[in-house]
Amino acid sequence: MQSFSNTLFADAETEYNDARYVIFGVPFDGTTSFKAGARDAPLAVRAASYNLETYLPYYDIEMPEIGFHDMGDLYCDCLPDLVVDQVADAVSDLVKDEKIPVMIGGEHSVTIGAVQTLAPAWYVVCDAHLDMQDEFRGSPYNHDCVTARVAETVKNIILIGPRSGTREEFAAARNEYHLYTADDVQERGITAILEEVSGLIGEETVYLSIDADAVDCCLTPGLGTPEPFGLTPTDIRSVIRRIAQKNVVGFDYVEVLPNDAGQTAVVAAHLIREFIAGHFCSRQK
Ligand code: MN
Ligand code: MN
Repeated sequence: MQSFSNTLFADAETEYNDARYVIFGVPFDGTTSFKAGARDAPLAVRAASYNLETYLPYYDIEMPEIGFHDMGDLYCDCLPDLVVDQVADAVSDLVKDEKIPVMIGGEHSVTIGAVQTLAPAWYVVCDAHLDMQDEFRGSPYNHDCVTARVAETVKNIILIGPRSGTREEFAAARNEYHLYTADDVQERGITAILEEVSGLIGEETVYLSIDADAVDCCLTPGLGTPEPFGLTPTDIRSVIRRIAQKNVVGFDYVEVLPNDAGQTAVVAAHLIREFIAGHFCSRQK
């Protein structure tokens, strides 16, 4: 029997009914403020996933041993509020079927819909930006408003990696949320911060969102709103490895703009697998 490639995430060979994790893409970038193109990310990340070995030495597991399924891409509407509703609806169906949603953006605003449906106790996000604008360029669902919208559903918010925002945003973030800036990560180290974060979350439900621009743009330049002086891919992997052991109800990886030599998409593909494998393996013990 010969093997045939397809456009689904590599090793996502499990049928929907048997899968615990369900990947889907949201190819939407209608509100991007600087460079557009994140709509091309789901396909680019899937393509990059074929570069990866099926074996993960850290977990000593073959990816096909984990039941995960790829539904393909959501057929997106044009307006951000409608896309948020579409995502909320799609995630609602996954929740009914007891799946863990693994969403590939698209821009960051797609996260709002997933969080609205899942309503976790905690929201952990890695991002260069605070995304705390109440409205931006005419929409409260702009990708610069994600944290502000999420805060309407989720009480406890942890931001890791910010280094860009207004003075008012930073003041509010320090006041209302658990803020670990990129400078904090640099000074304290990601392990110490994750120890603290893990204690805060305890056994409560958590949603984990990775905005690709949390990573330093000099390492992964395929970004719509690139920022230097950021985290490393290894830092993000540490976040995912640690948080995946928690009571995670949903995960996303957003804001990849595949206009580079492929670094940003391959890091995303690795880290999506890292979440699935980490979540799965921490429940096998
Ligand atoms: Mn963001
Ligand atoms: Mn960002």
